[in-house]
Order: sequence, then C-alpha cells, then structure tokens
Amino acid sequence: MTPLRPDLSSLPAYVAGRTVPGAVKLASNEVALPPHPHVQQAVAEAVAVANRYPDITVTTLTQRLADHLGVAPERIATGCGSVALCGQLVAAVCSPGDEVVFAWRSFEAYPIVSVIGHATPVPVPNTAGHEHDLEAMLAAITDRTRIVFVCNPNNPTGTAIRRRELVDFMARVPEHVLVVLDEAYAEFVSDEEIPDGLTLLDAHPHVAVLRTFSKAHRLAGLRVGYAVTAPDLASALRSVSVPFSVSAPAQAAALAALDVLDDLLADARAAAAEARRMAAELRAAGFEVPETQANFCWLPLGERTQAFAEHALDHKVVVRAFHPTGVRVSAGAPDENEMLLEAARSFPRA
Ligand SMILES: *Cc1c(COP(=O)(O)O)cnc(C)c1O
Repeated sequence: MTPLRPDLSSLPAYVAGRTVPGAVKLASNEVALPPHPHVQQAVAEAVAVANRYPDITVTTLTQRLADHLGVAPERIATGCGSVALCGQLVAAVCSPGDEVVFAWRSFEAYPIVSVIGHATPVPVPNTAGHEHDLEAMLAAITDRTRIVFVCNPNNPTGTAIRRRELVDFMARVPEHVLVVLDEAYAEFVSDEEIPDGLTLLDAHPHVAVLRTFSKAHRLAGLRVGYAVTAPDLASALRSVSVPFSVSAPAQAAALAALDVLDDLLADARAAAAEARRMAAELRAAGFEVPETQANFCWLPLGERTQAFAEHALDHKVVVRAFHPTGVRVSAGAPDENEMLLEAARSFPRA
C-alpha cells in the first residue's frame, strides 16, 4: 500500500447534504429554483466549445466582477467555488504548524482545509446565543495564528455580526493575521447593520472577502467563487490554484448570472423571507431558533439532533444534522417548507 500522510486519518470528513429519492432536500442551503433561463442558455453555448481549455486567467469574468464591485481586477481571485479559495488561502498564507482560528460550529470546510494545508485548526465555541464569540476568538490568537475565518452570516447558525462589533474586532486583530470574511450568504442579509465586507477592505489591508455563485446565484453545481483582497494576496491565491479550475461553462454561467442579477437577488430575498417565516413558525411550535440572516435556520437540538433528522426524513424531508449539536434547515419552496414545519410540529418533545 502507498504510504499516506499519517495525519490524514485525523481529517474531518465533509458531510454533504444527502439526496434521497422522493424526499425534498432542505440540506445544502441551495436556492430551490433552477439556474435562470438566461444562465442556462449561456452554459449551453459554452458547452458547445468545451473541447477547448477555458481561459486560464478568467479575464472576462474577473473584469466584470471588478466593474460590478468597484474594485481593481488585480484584487480579485476566482476559484472552483469559494471552498477552493478557503484552501488556497491556507496554502498561500500558512506554513506547517501555523494556526487557523474559526468559530465552531461554522462552515465545516475550515478545519478540513486547515489540516490539508498542514496548519493547526483552532475552533472557538460559539456563544450561548449561537453567535461567533469574537472576544474568545481574539483570545485564541497566538504568534502562530495566520488566518481567522469569520463567517458572516454564519453557516449553520444563521446568526450575523453587526458592523460595530466587526470593525472593533478587526481593529484588535494583530497585523500578522489575515481576517477572512466568508460572505457566502451576503445576498440574503436583511439587517442593514450587517456590513458588506467590501466596505471594510480599504481601512483593513489584512482582510480577504469570500463570495460565491453557489447560493443566491443558483450555480452550486458549476463551482465559481471569488476572493477580493490586497493585490499581492490575490496574486498568491492564483499561483496556488489548480490550473483551469474554473471551467468555461462555469465562467459563462457566472457572467450570465450578473446580467440577470436583479432577478436573482429578488428570488434570494424571497428565500431569506421564507427562512425567517420558518424560524418564526418553529419558535411558535416551541423550538429554540436563533435569528437568521440567511436562507436557512438553525435548531440547536443537542442530543435530539439525530432523532429530529430521522423524523423529518419519515416526513420526506432531508435536513442537515450536525449531531449532537443541532439541525440546519434550508429554505426551499414554500410547499417544501410546509412539509418541514409539519414534521417539526409532530416531533415528540423530549
Ligand atoms: C456554501 C458556502 C460556501 C461556498 O461554497 P462553494 O464552494 O462556493 O460552493 C462558502 N462558505 C460557506 C460558509 C458556505 O456555506
């Protein structure tokens, strides 16, 4: 047998939301609608020339994003989903044994990409209110810390950090540490106090903002994300990437999604409203549900987590269980959400 890295056995597995035939999937924070027809058309055209390699520098999409976001293209690095960029950040910034701080629970890729990148993951438990514990995260920073991931809004709890708290936090993070603001759910935010991370870039050079086309833009299956950061770090992210990792159909899809962004954002706001409605209904049914700023909500069910997931599946709804902490439920179509609510109302109380 090929000798493997001895630390691979400690690698946490990325558990994807299950797809169960005949059941509705509220497990992966996707928007339930298919890609926009204009996007599907653009993908079909790109597929017709897919015998050719894609543009390795992703020039057209990068320039379009730069114009759209009002930043220089040198500050943007695209990737095969923003999860790939999480890994590229570790690869570009961390030497073996350096530390990566993140809230827990948060996005399950953070510990995985840290270990793969030979860095040490440092999870910091959330507050009792299921939010990032920013004081504890600051206290966890050492001389070896190189990255702090801040997931805003946080997956899977749906909670979000307000501008004043975030600005205060960033001012206190030492200069040798990169703050990565993972804003995969930015388009679903309804509270104006929650900052757009791009507005913090100029005042804070040691920041990278991560965005994705997987959620509000409905392109999870095509894999496009991007980082906006200082030009030298953006350049480093490109240099550690797998060549051609953003396919031509993916580049075409992302460009076309920007053409119809207003439509996509309206649908995203509707999904976020559904998540808030579910949260309110679940609270009315007696569940604890923290305020959500995303297209999903969080049920901190502790030891009852697995039982809830099985009960939901009996009602033909797949949820995402993080046993023994809680269940994350993505907002689907209204009738799908109704199925989840019915399952929740009949869940036997402990
Ligand atoms: C879904 C998600 C991403 C984006 O994943 P892609 O790789 O772009 O599909 C990034 N961060 C968080 C917190 C997410 O939930």
